[in-house]
Amino acid sequence: MQGNKTLTMIKPDAVQKGFTGKILEQITGAGFRITAMKMLHLSIPRAELFYAVHRDRPFYSELVQFMASGPIVAAILEKNNAVADFRALIGPTDPAKASSDSIRARFGSSVQNNAIHGSDSDENAKMECDFFFNQLERF
Ligand code: ATP
Ligand code: MG
Repeated sequence: MQGNKTLTMIKPDAVQKGFTGKILEQITGAGFRITAMKMLHLSIPRAELFYAVHRDRPFYSELVQFMASGPIVAAILEKNNAVADFRALIGPTDPAKASSDSIRARFGSSVQNNAIHGSDSDENAKMECDFFFNQLERF
């Protein structure tokens, strides 16, 4: 059975440009319920840990610098088939390849500065939710 939770981060580029409200509106308008949310600034070590799966990729160091460059908004989202439906809502990694109504096409500006993160599996969604939120922070 598909899980009903995914983890999102509104990335530093989109927060800095003031897109948080519009992005949350598109997310809730698409039927996702926000069950946890916080604004925070990732340290370099925390950003390295979050993206550790990419540590051997050429873009890892830049990605970590970018994710620690300013505040982000992290949230747990609930909906049936959350992981796949949310990745469809945000679009592919490169905003230029995303359909015009997707979150990345609307608010992202490059492959790296693509406005938003979405978990890629139920297993990673669980790990990523635990990375940001304890049980008292979930509703
Ligand atoms: P995310 O995990 O943030 O939801 P994704 O699953 O679409 O994005 P991944 O392959 O997991 O893409 O890459 C993680 C992030 O690393 C991307 O969202 C992007 O910010 C950055 N990234 C990926 N590929 C590149 C690249 N070729 N050059 C620069 N940055 C990249
Ligand atoms: Mg990913």
